[in-house]
Amino acid sequence: MSVAENLLKIKKSLPQHVVLVAVSKTQPIDKILEAYHSGQRIFGENYVQELVEKFAVLPKDIEWHFIGHLQSNKVKYIAPFVSLIHGVDSYKLLKEINKQGQKNNRIINCLLQIHIAKEETKFGLNEKELFELLNSEELKNLTKIKICGLMGMASNTENTHEVKKEFLYLNQLFKKVKNNFTASNINVTTLSMGMSGDYLLAIECGSNMIRIGSSIFGARNYSK
Ligand SMILES: *Cc1c(COP(=O)(O)O)cnc(C)c1O
Repeated sequence: MSVAENLLKIKKSLPQHVVLVAVSKTQPIDKILEAYHSGQRIFGENYVQELVEKFAVLPKDIEWHFIGHLQSNKVKYIAPFVSLIHGVDSYKLLKEINKQGQKNNRIINCLLQIHIAKEETKFGLNEKELFELLNSEELKNLTKIKICGLMGMASNTENTHEVKKEFLYLNQLFKKVKNNFTASNINVTTLSMGMSGDYLLAIECGSNMIRIGSSIFGARNYSK
């Protein structure tokens, strides 16, 4: 099936409140344009240089999300235009994003990444670190970031029971944060969880933003 057909099929299966991020990492410009021309406006990338190059040549009404692991020294390259950074996992990174927000005179939307998978290799805060960050006095000084919600990646396993457990846990944290933290730079509305293999389950477990790559564009040539 074509990119347009895949997109249509996925969109039909989504409840209205769920936002679809088309994960275009490793995909060539023509495929991204095919998705764009069938109406998709939100795209996700996980490498800074690739994102910057694609931003430069693609239509300016695209909302670019950064979904990878972001190094502090690279924030400056995406700060002028990025719509949402999904993978924020430290105060240090948040502080750098704030600094670049100041330089660019804009507020940069962020999601805090939570480590929910069994794999040690995945990034993210644990529950204790999450609440320490949200309760910290210094956070109040960061006026050029906005914490819009949480993001997580479940274990890469066929075990649906395990994946469901992880998603439900993240949803529980999301609700806790949503109900207990509001500040001028905290407005928690977004729960980013679910990829090609598990997005229907993620939605069932409370996700309202899914990140889909291979089900739209087909298998990637090299894995990132
Ligand atoms: C690659 C990637 C996705 C999309 O994965 P698919 O299985 O191709 O849908 C989603 N989220 C993150 C963080 C990714 O790196």
